[in-house]
Amino acid sequence: MDKKDLLRRLPKIDDVMRQESLVMLAEEKGELLVTDAVRDVIAGMRADILEMFDETAEYYDTSQFEAANVAAAAEERLAEQEKKKLYRVINATGTILHTNLGRAPLCKDATDNVAAVSQGYSTLEYNVSQGQRGSRHDLVGELIKELTGAEDAMVVNNNAAATMIVLASMGAGKEIIVSRGELVEIGGAFRIPDIMMQSGAYLTEVGTSNKTRISDYENEILTEEEAEEMDWDETPRGMTRYATGALMKVHKSNYDIVGFTEEASLEELVALGKKHEIPVIFDMGNGLMLDMSEYGLNEPNIPASLATGIDVMLFSGDKLLGGPQAGIIVGKKEYIKAMKKHPLARAMRVDKMTFAALEATLMKYRDPKLALRDIPVLSMIAASSDELKAKAEKLADAIRDKNHDAVCEIVEVEDQIGGGSAPSVRLKGWAVSVQDGGKSADRTERKLRKAEVPVVARINEERLLLCVRTIADDETDLVAEAMKQE
Ligand SMILES: *Cc1c(COP(=O)(O)O)cnc(C)c1O
Repeated sequence: MDKKDLLRRLPKIDDVMRQESLVMLAEEKGELLVTDAVRDVIAGMRADILEMFDETAEYYDTSQFEAANVAAAAEERLAEQEKKKLYRVINATGTILHTNLGRAPLCKDATDNVAAVSQGYSTLEYNVSQGQRGSRHDLVGELIKELTGAEDAMVVNNNAAATMIVLASMGAGKEIIVSRGELVEIGGAFRIPDIMMQSGAYLTEVGTSNKTRISDYENEILTEEEAEEMDWDETPRGMTRYATGALMKVHKSNYDIVGFTEEASLEELVALGKKHEIPVIFDMGNGLMLDMSEYGLNEPNIPASLATGIDVMLFSGDKLLGGPQAGIIVGKKEYIKAMKKHPLARAMRVDKMTFAALEATLMKYRDPKLALRDIPVLSMIAASSDELKAKAEKLADAIRDKNHDAVCEIVEVEDQIGGGSAPSVRLKGWAVSVQDGGKSADRTERKLRKAEVPVVARINEERLLLCVRTIADDETDLVAEAMKQE
């Protein structure tokens, strides 16, 4: 057979579409996409034939022209096209809040509630008992107040948005005093000085990189009258100065300053704020609700920080709170009320799916034991060394079952919180170190990423590590499956 014969015998789209499998598929996915897939498969064959040498044509396997085979190829193609860009992976890195892997995994109640609320209509802005319009701000407001002791609360898209609206609402046209040791970059373009500029507030830096005293803040405070009377040539570099709008503390969430250091405490700032009638803002970032010091996590928590008398405090929903991406602002009613009315509020408001996940997550905190058991981020932090060791042994057994070449060893590792939180905390954990036949760690790591549910592993000193702290119990079999012999 020569190339011309082959081209003539190429299958016809209509013939292929009559295959029963495709008739059913077209019913489900619509004619259009299925026909396109068949057309693409046939076009691929035509291009192959046109490109090949005449001698190759003689040996061409024409069984691929059969309608059933073209249909199967089209089905595969369609499945490939339908593969989502955003899909589940297994985190075997031992880093709990892995920023690239979506930060906090949600608890089951949260995902159930998202499905229940988003598949139909909901009470997003409707008060069922009164049969009239409600406010989305009220959905989790009461719960947050109960859990944190705050007077009022507001939820926006993330903590970056929260920072923006807090500064715009409390500091536009005024100066906000921040320590030079706390001018944080959270990642990418999010830097406190830049966000301050965008908000219309003026940053006044005080202290030094390693030491800032409460007197540094006090010396910089300007009243309205003082700011008005100030001559431009009295100010550094002749800059205009504005009245102080707030004192702000930013938690050093993603770095530590060690050595010869000093910083003003929340209590000192609150006392200074009271004395001068200036509000105090605390960007605490991580959203830790419970005291987790017994698990090695010595971070400030929300209720304790608020109890110092802070006026406004803000944090992320998807860091140590263990909920969906959100920015939560809590504090004195007068300030939060103004934020809810601020024009930016609409641009930052969150969707029903976020509220659904957040409400279900927050409810767990009504009993701290439930929160520790059911919120994945917290249960991963609280997991004991014995539990993790047993989990690692179970995983090693499951891998040996699937792959007789794999040599598994249980090793101790240091896990991390991640997500720019508690950078110096190391959690003692366990991992399965795998030698997959004669393969290099890099090659095994690639194989794991290609699995049906990809597994993201850690490589340490040429060893492939599967850290079990971040592998959910029901994922063990999937990891073993990904490790099966090639
Ligand atoms: C993480 C963090 C932010 C940014 O929060 P996102 O929710 O990621 O937008 C801001 N400030 C501090 C102190 C943080 O730790």
